[in-house]
Amino acid sequence: MIRSAMNVVLEGIKTAQLNFVVGSHVWIEDPELAWLDAEIIESKNQEITVNFESGSKTVSKSSNIYPKDPEFPPNGVEDMTRLAYLHEPGVLQNLHIRYTINEIYTYTGNILIAVNPFQRLPHLSATSTMAKYKGAAFGEQSPHPFAIASFAYRNMINEEKSQSILVSGESGAGKTESTKMLMHYLAYLGGRAATEGRSVEQQVLESNPVLEAFGNAKTVRNNNSSRFGKFVEIQFDQKGRISGAAIRTYLLERSRVCQVSDPERNYHCFYMLCAAPKEVQDVDKYKLGNPRTFHYLNQSNCIELDGLDDSKEYLATKRAMEVVGISSDEQDAIFRIVAAVLHLGNIEFVKGSEVDSSQPKDEKSHFHLKTAAGLLMCDVKSLEDSFCKRVMVTRGESITKLLDPDSATLSRDALAKIIYSRLFDWIVDKINNSIGQDANSKKLIGVLDIYGFESFKTNSFEQFCINLTNEKLQQHFNQHVFKMEQEEYTREEIDWSYIEFVDNQDVLDLIEKKPGGIIALLDEACMFPRSTHETFAEKLYQTFKDNKRFSKPKLSRTGFTINHYAGDVSYQTDLFLDKNKDYVVPEHAALLNASKCPFVSGLFPPLPEETIKSTKFSSIAAQFKQQLISLLETLNATEPHYIRCVKPNNLLKPGIFENNNVLQQLRCGGVMEAIRISCAGYPTRKSFSEFVQRFSILDPTVLKCPDEVTGCKRLLDKANLKDYQIGNTKVFLRAGQMAELDACRAEVM
Ligand code: ADP
Ligand code: MG
Repeated sequence: MIRSAMNVVLEGIKTAQLNFVVGSHVWIEDPELAWLDAEIIESKNQEITVNFESGSKTVSKSSNIYPKDPEFPPNGVEDMTRLAYLHEPGVLQNLHIRYTINEIYTYTGNILIAVNPFQRLPHLSATSTMAKYKGAAFGEQSPHPFAIASFAYRNMINEEKSQSILVSGESGAGKTESTKMLMHYLAYLGGRAATEGRSVEQQVLESNPVLEAFGNAKTVRNNNSSRFGKFVEIQFDQKGRISGAAIRTYLLERSRVCQVSDPERNYHCFYMLCAAPKEVQDVDKYKLGNPRTFHYLNQSNCIELDGLDDSKEYLATKRAMEVVGISSDEQDAIFRIVAAVLHLGNIEFVKGSEVDSSQPKDEKSHFHLKTAAGLLMCDVKSLEDSFCKRVMVTRGESITKLLDPDSATLSRDALAKIIYSRLFDWIVDKINNSIGQDANSKKLIGVLDIYGFESFKTNSFEQFCINLTNEKLQQHFNQHVFKMEQEEYTREEIDWSYIEFVDNQDVLDLIEKKPGGIIALLDEACMFPRSTHETFAEKLYQTFKDNKRFSKPKLSRTGFTINHYAGDVSYQTDLFLDKNKDYVVPEHAALLNASKCPFVSGLFPPLPEETIKSTKFSSIAAQFKQQLISLLETLNATEPHYIRCVKPNNLLKPGIFENNNVLQQLRCGGVMEAIRISCAGYPTRKSFSEFVQRFSILDPTVLKCPDEVTGCKRLLDKANLKDYQIGNTKVFLRAGQMAELDACRAEVM
């Protein structure tokens, strides 16, 4: 578990509370429920005896106890910074209380926390709700993604500065749903009234179902999980109307095309096409039918999804494709390719007549081979050869090597994956071209919907890339939160010395430093024909044996552990080398380039002569790193806004709020770190009048003070507090000082 530097600050809170008053309520750590409410019945030195609601008693060290706000509002607070005690249990209690009354959104300063309701809450997305946020000042209405979008839009117009909204959270937390709400709202703000035909904003919105059909799948974590990252940049003209958009996508999960584990599904489009209504599906053309007859789909028992009608989805996808400008010929070619991929997966291989050779297994395999070739409009024999043979060029001579059945199967899967990923990229490019870019636009709002931090039982190359993304975004986030804090202090004109915050630059160096970082070493390994994942791992151990962020897991020979900002993750290197090679088998490229279907051949432009000959490899990790650099450059040129999505339970059911689960996500998403940064300064702020209200009992004469500032100061003196600050409109307190004030108040009450 990550007990970040947050605790250091919390220690501060505790030492500040010199003694716990008998009768007051506190939070006490609990392994199962994270925090439990208890009442102090005895307080001796550092030993505190408490009574739980259940009636049981326990004795605990005062260092394991946090004060509980006696005046916690019954419906919680809309902004965490309004909590009297800004600590983990308080944050958690607030989210939980609000969740039970269907208030799923809460601010922490400017950060919006969104807890997935797992049910439609119409009051949150209605058009009337949209209208409420239009023109409302930030904080005037309840917390909501519309408020963030509205704020960003207004900033963009008023300050002439591009904005970005970064939506993060683990799989199934609600990122994509929130992103869609943001896009709807921006389309609402920046749309043109009553336009004819396909408006830019309609195209932007309809890009979602298209991308979801080809890039989303059911996983254990989410029934509609996006298997790619997405940054949508919406461009606005001088009048603040949407004038163009660009979609960038990141790392589509390719392996899913050929490999699905129970109870997950492959990409939605495969099932849609199999279920396409008879009148639109030319059975003879695609030769599909029951999805269970296809190996790429049948590896999992999950074919149908509750509440999802694949046949309707097919029609909806076609309509959306139409809106984003994909012509019916193109749609036809796209679905031919989708069908071809399924047929490819059904070609099985057995040993051929020659040593270590292979051939299609039987009539059935021949049928699928022929069907796939027909759909791809390429030569059957060449397709078969591209699986069963490989031409090697050594010292200018080319020799044909035969492949055994296992290698032929791998080659088949490689072809299916490369076709599918090129198809996906084509769709993204097409959408971008047809929406069109406003090259003159100087005002942009970017929305980022990207995978959150991942730590599974087995973590491979994908998790490595995903977690690199999150390290980069975390750094960006920390720097920003830190800056915002400073700005509030400046606005209130209070003195504030520089606070250190945990910088994760060292993790970034470990991963991406050139030369010498993990990616550089991986690329090096990929270039040496003789390296294996064992030699790669060995090299890592040697290089980073003294690195604080790196370690070798005890029970693994080839794994490595990175100490990420969100915790330790152990990676298995087994497939790192293979997965890092962005290599298209030249036979595959040549075959598809020669397709009679211009769409298919267009996906595989001819390779320049020298690329075919040289065995120079192209690194996925390095490309990805480059994409991230460019993303961060874009983000750095914008003013960022953050939405942190939280998944309250793993059952994907409404009404269940699991404390430990939520806490873990708040820590990983940097929410706790943001709070820590603010705790390190003056985390508790109360307006002068609120402050006087709450503490006038310490000295009722303050109510007669001519000005509130004098009153506040007098009360602070009364409680013997030092080191607080008086701003322009608020009292700023150190962590723990509120507890001291409350203790004084409890004594006189
Ligand atoms: P992520 O993109 O973070 O993986 P999604 O946005 O796809 O997660 O959300 C997962 C599921 O949770 C959705 O399919 C939907 O059922 C539910 N969900 C998420 N956000 C909301 C919301 N605001 N209202 C209702 N249901 C939601
Ligand atoms: Mg998603």
